[in-house]
Amino acid sequence: MALNVALSRELDAFGIADPRPQQRHQVATNTAVGETRIAAAHAALECVMDPEIPVINLRELGVLRNVVLAGSTLHITITPTYAGCPAMGQMREDIEVALHNAGLSPFKVVSVLSPAWTTDWMSADTHDKLRRYGIAPPAHLSDSTHEQPIRWHTKPQTTPPCPQCASPLTELVAQSGSTACKALWRCTQCREPFDYFKPY
Ligand SMILES: [Zn+2]
Repeated sequence: MALNVALSRELDAFGIADPRPQQRHQVATNTAVGETRIAAAHAALECVMDPEIPVINLRELGVLRNVVLAGSTLHITITPTYAGCPAMGQMREDIEVALHNAGLSPFKVVSVLSPAWTTDWMSADTHDKLRRYGIAPPAHLSDSTHEQPIRWHTKPQTTPPCPQCASPLTELVAQSGSTACKALWRCTQCREPFDYFKPY
């Protein structure tokens, strides 16, 4: 855990692989109106939360990748968390509702599968939010190369510390928790069960 957070901060410090869309968006137009619409879209999308984890938004989750203007149409690029994630339909719908309600039509939500989403795209701040919500964030970086098709990794699991009391004495209860992307763990110190966001 500590290593993962430290790594994220190192990467941030060096400006490497920063997934945050506001630092990645390409500006398709130089007009002030275009800039304003893109900024308004980012602001509206900040309020679109992960349907399964209401304390982190889709940018923090790493699903929201890019906002550009193509002609007069806003193109919102999203990357699905993994094939078959039941929350993706809801995420797309929530994005459309947020942009529509903000008066930002016309827009188009485009799914891009490559590079494949990875939990590595979640920042140290996002890890903190997950922990405060009672979910243990991924305890190590995934081994995604971003070139492989989306798949579950079967590498040995690092023991996540308890998000409630920070004890390292935790045990796996079930590989699938409240959703397929989380495992159910239990703290042997405070006895509290918790969801663990599996590295992917
Ligand atoms: Zn505990």
